[in-house]
Amino acid sequence: MSEALFVVNAGSSSIKFKLYRVAGTDAAPMVSGALDGIGTRPRLQAKDETGAVVIDRSFTAEEIAKPADAQHAISDFVAPLLTEHDLIGVGHRVVHGGPHYDHPVLVDDEVLKTLEGFIPLAPLHQLTNLDPIRVIRERRPDLPQVACFDTAFHRGHPEVCDRFALPRELYDDGVRRYGFHGLSYEYVSGALRELAPELAHGRLVICHLGSGASACGLIDGRSQDATMGFTALDGLPMGTRCGALDPGVVLHLIEQKGMSAAEVGHMLYHDSGLRGLSGLSNDMRELLASDDPAAAMAVDYFCLHVAQAVARLAVTLGGLDALVFTAGIGERSPEVRARVCARLGLLGISLDEVANAANETWIDADGPGPSVLVIPTDEERMIALATLRLLRATA
Ligand code: ADP
Repeated sequence: MSEALFVVNAGSSSIKFKLYRVAGTDAAPMVSGALDGIGTRPRLQAKDETGAVVIDRSFTAEEIAKPADAQHAISDFVAPLLTEHDLIGVGHRVVHGGPHYDHPVLVDDEVLKTLEGFIPLAPLHQLTNLDPIRVIRERRPDLPQVACFDTAFHRGHPEVCDRFALPRELYDDGVRRYGFHGLSYEYVSGALRELAPELAHGRLVICHLGSGASACGLIDGRSQDATMGFTALDGLPMGTRCGALDPGVVLHLIEQKGMSAAEVGHMLYHDSGLRGLSGLSNDMRELLASDDPAAAMAVDYFCLHVAQAVARLAVTLGGLDALVFTAGIGERSPEVRARVCARLGLLGISLDEVANAANETWIDADGPGPSVLVIPTDEERMIALATLRLLRATA
């Protein structure tokens, strides 16, 4: 029987999962799927390694009302696939590892309790990340489960990049700049190490531009500074999230406009960013295709803020050797990359238009400036490899 690993990436309205075949210290995906539309129009879909559909099943909103129901349905689907495999563990994406976890951890009762303590730091995400862990513990208490944190990669930031300019005691209470997207940054910097080790040792900015977006500055593969802060609202404008905002606006909305904290929270997380700016869509493809001036302005705002973030991070790093684009927009939009890079001539950045248009890996023009690359991210693979490493080390 060959060994298998299961990876779970749970959000509030969907759970993505992948089943990996393990060979030594490597893992290759066998089945990838997602259960979307939790509580609205739940649908479980999965494909095998050849791309063939292995399940496509809809449920009623009552059947799959919450993430725990979704995990039961996914576990029911996966169990029969495991008759010829020895499932050695499950790796989970957990958004918040708090101030101290700087590496993945094996989940036991005490760890689970600690992670529940971080729910107030990320109320939208942490609870839904922990539900699948609980469901799997009920069904298979013997199975090792590993939590891989989005914040862990950033815990080594210098203090000056970890603080807000707020009273000191808030820092001790956990009000810090946690970062996020750390699994993606760790994967991409590892992929760069394979491609060009000398660049991976240098000063690197990675722009993770998807529905959620952030940028991270690294030296020798270690995160030094990132645009996301205490929550995943800070930094770059995103599909529906506002990005960095004058905190006085929040006070104004509550004190002058009479909005409740919940209403403001909903606006900042769901009605802002590209959606708010354009009044049309949170989807970059739709905005790029539109001839509405508000759509053009939203794209321009996004590109300006990404370029500003690269310049800011280059200051933290003391220079820039390479810039990497990743995630949906970063990997697939030559136009956004070109418009970001056009603003970065002052850092010596210059693109090869043909290579950029073809989404090639190396997209900078020949010359002395920083290298510019496109590297697809794979957070699930990062979770699989980190989980495997921890299981092997503790076996
Ligand atoms: P998620 O954070 O949901 O995983 P993705 O990394 O898949 O998000 O990124 C989603 C974003 O990528 C959307 O704004 C989508 O419009 C954008 N996107 C995907 N393909 C393209 C493309 N060819 N050109 C421009 N934007 C794209």
